[in-house]
Formats: sequence, structure tokens, C-alpha cells
Amino acid sequence: MSSNRRPRIAALGLHHETNTFSSFATTLESFKSSGLQREGIQRGEKIAEMHREASTTFAGYFAAADRYDFDLVPLFFAATDPSGTIDRDAFDLLAGEMMFMLQDQGPWDGVLLNQMGAAVSDVFRDMDGEIAARTRAVVGPNVPIVMTLDLHANISQKMVTHTDALVVYRTNPHMDARERAVEACDLLLRTVRGEIRPVAALEMPPMVIGILCQDTREEPMLSVIRDVEDAARRPKILHASMGEGYPWADVPEMGAAFYAVADGDVQAAADAARWMAQRAWERRSDLATAPALSVRQAVYRAMKAATGPTVMLDVGDNIGAGSAGDSTLILAEARKLGAKGLVQTLRDPEAVARCVSAGVGAEITLEVGGKTDRRHGEPVNVTGVVKTISDGKFEDRSPVHAGWRYFDNGLCAVLETSDDHTLLLVSTRVGNMSRKQFNSVGIIPEEYRIVVAKGVVSPRPAYQPIAAEMLLVNTGGATSADLNSFNYRHRRRPLFPFETYARYP
Ligand SMILES: [Zn+2]
Repeated sequence: MSSNRRPRIAALGLHHETNTFSSFATTLESFKSSGLQREGIQRGEKIAEMHREASTTFAGYFAAADRYDFDLVPLFFAATDPSGTIDRDAFDLLAGEMMFMLQDQGPWDGVLLNQMGAAVSDVFRDMDGEIAARTRAVVGPNVPIVMTLDLHANISQKMVTHTDALVVYRTNPHMDARERAVEACDLLLRTVRGEIRPVAALEMPPMVIGILCQDTREEPMLSVIRDVEDAARRPKILHASMGEGYPWADVPEMGAAFYAVADGDVQAAADAARWMAQRAWERRSDLATAPALSVRQAVYRAMKAATGPTVMLDVGDNIGAGSAGDSTLILAEARKLGAKGLVQTLRDPEAVARCVSAGVGAEITLEVGGKTDRRHGEPVNVTGVVKTISDGKFEDRSPVHAGWRYFDNGLCAVLETSDDHTLLLVSTRVGNMSRKQFNSVGIIPEEYRIVVAKGVVSPRPAYQPIAAEMLLVNTGGATSADLNSFNYRHRRRPLFPFETYARYP
């Protein structure tokens, strides 16, 4: 491109973490309503409105456009909560519109693809790779493409082949979406201006990093990320990333992956990727799993605690990883053991409707939760008073996982039960990533003995500051930490720790 013109950069994405074991199919309807963002499908100026003041990947693109002096053209962004395989209609319509806009509004000097990296559609099991390939087909071989990814991406060779660079979050909880997006823009713009010539290498050791070991602030992941940072500082290396992988997507690329981009030197990229992979492989046992408490052990521990709240991380009902959001396993055990003062969300639109028709102040008896499938407990019969009814929209300006800001519980109701528990009954599958979820309906989680947070890592930025103690609770569900409880058909074999005889290199 000529040097006196501002580069014109397209930005677009189809963002989904697909739990292929989930009971929820992901349809066009799922994308239209999302707990993660108020507008599930965003086009043009709407993207600016929903992200400029947040801390998401798109927020980073906007910041970089100002800093590096390019014209950012936000085209299309669709994202919904983690859930099951994306159906054919949803993929065809969303990917079709994206590619139409890219074609129609071109030509471009460069493209930013905002993908999650663990999306699976009925037809394209490596959906992110397919989006990269289609983008390349639209813009041709000479327009640089940089794709940003979540740290839970299952990175594939197809994603690498059809992009000039991948930039993956480096933190879990994800606090660096914006920072990584700025880095992606820097790589893209230097490539557009002809200052660098990125060549990439991917290394996929046959190993899975277990969900209980994925917090990058703690060992063993702390050292893995240090290796990524060391690799990034090697001579000729422009960028290094790794994917922790997302274990509930049953695809061949599921697992850990290591990636490096060098300036014109493919051997340097390959060496860096292999070095990181080898070092992680040596720690594969530590990275596979970590101790968690049974539900009973966790409830007893909370009951004996001198101070509260004890925050229980409900591993099996990890909404942010595609589970039901209506698990009653902890609630039922707490009632059975006589624990008091528990607060939690339960996704149960039917129960919300009962509360709404009864009205604020009414006492009702109803069944709550456990309605999606048999993996997340049975419905629990409760009697309680409806305290609050809300449209469920809430906003969090403080840093939360992945930098989201405008959340939506859907229509929701607060029920105070006669045995001293508080249930926030919600309609969407919004994760427990923000205390504002409770504050917005008058609940102060700090005042409870037990706070159930559905998730493993994503609730930590919100709940660590108020927790007397945080416990990992090994509940069953669509996101159980026990991967042997799932019937995989497409994953690689051998793969550690499923097959302990797996070898690398
Ligand atoms: Zn993630």
C-alpha cells in the first residue's frame, strides 16, 4: 500500500466456545440472545457502542486504531454463551453474512478476526479454521489476516495455514483480552506496512491441560506462560502464544498447542514452538489434574468455617464452559446437611415465571433447577418469599473475565427460602463472573456463609476479593473435571492423560 494513506482494516468475528457434550444445541436464536452481551449479533456502529468502553478484544482493536493510526471498520460480531454444537442454519447464516460484508465493503489492507477458537459446527468441526479459510478466500493471499483467540482455543493447523498470525490471551482468568488485541493490531499493521514478514509454526504435543490446572496465576501454568514469554523474546521471534485447549469440544485438535511467529525464518518459529511444547510435555502429569473436594466435604468445611463467605466453585456446572446453569447438586447437599445462608444463581425460566405471576412479597412453593438433564441434579422443592423481580440487565465496569461489560440475566427473580437460602433465578445462561449480578438485584454476597459460583477460573476475579476461602468442588455435570466420564469419538489418540502411554515428540 502507499505510505501516505491510512490503512483500512476490517474487523469481524464469530465467537463461540462449543461444548459438544452439552444438552443445548446452539442455534441462530442462541446467538440473538446472550447472557454475555446484550446484543448477541452486532453490526457496524453497534460494535463500537458495545465494546469501546469495555475491556474486550474489540475494545483493544479500537484503542489500537487510535494509537497506530489506521481506519478500523467493525463489520460483524456474533457471540453467545458457551453451549452445544452450532447447527447448520446458524453457521450458514452468520458466516455467510460475515463473508458477504467482508467482500462487499472491501478492498482491505488487513483483516482482524476476533474468534474464540473452540467453536464446533455440525458441518465444520474446526469452525474457526473454516472461518479463517473463508476469510483468506475472500481477501486473497496478499492481504494480511491476524486472528485473536481465547486461551481456551483448540488451535488447529487450518487456523495457522490461513492466517498470518494468531494472538492468544495469555491469562486465565482472561484479563488481557484488550492488551492482546492491541498486540495483534501491532503485528497486523507492521505486516501491512511491509516492515515484517511473519511465518508461523504450530506444535501440538498429545496432551490435555485439565480444567483444574488452568489458572495462569498459579503453578503449573505459571511456568508454562513464562516459557511463552521467554520464547517471544528469542531472536527473530515476533510473537509466541499457547492454547490451554478446551476439553469439552470433541475434535481432533482438542488439547494444548504451542505457536510461534518469526520474521521470515520458519526454522526459528518451529524451534520456539517445539521448545515450549517440550517443556510443557515434561510437566504433563502436573498439568492434567488437581485435587478438588466432594460436595459433602465442601459443605462440611463451609459449615465449620469461622468466617464467611466460603465460595464454592461448582466445577461440573461451569456455565462459562457450556453447562446447564441449573445444577442443584450443592444446594441439595447443603439443605440435607442443614447448612444455612447459601446464595446462588439457578437458570430456571419456568420458576422465574412462577415468581413473576405470584408477585413481590408472595410466598410460594415450587421446584427449582435440575430441569435440563439428569447430570446437573434433581429439581429441588423450596418454599420462599419473592423479594425482587428484575429485567436482569446489569453492567460491570471493573475488570472481569474476558472484559465483558453489559450482561443480561434475562427476566429474573430473587427467592428467599424458608430454610435461609437466597436463590437468584435467572433466564439466560450468564456465568457467575461479576458480583454486580447479585448487587443489581439487592443481594450482597459478602453477607452469606456460602456463595456458589458456577465455574472454575472465570468467577475468581469477582469472588476472590470477598472469599474467606475458595473451594474447588468436584460436581458432576456437562463440564465435569473427570474427562473419562465423556464419550469422545473425534479426539486424537493417544492423548495424555487418557492414554498414559502417549509419547512426544
Ligand atoms: Zn476462555
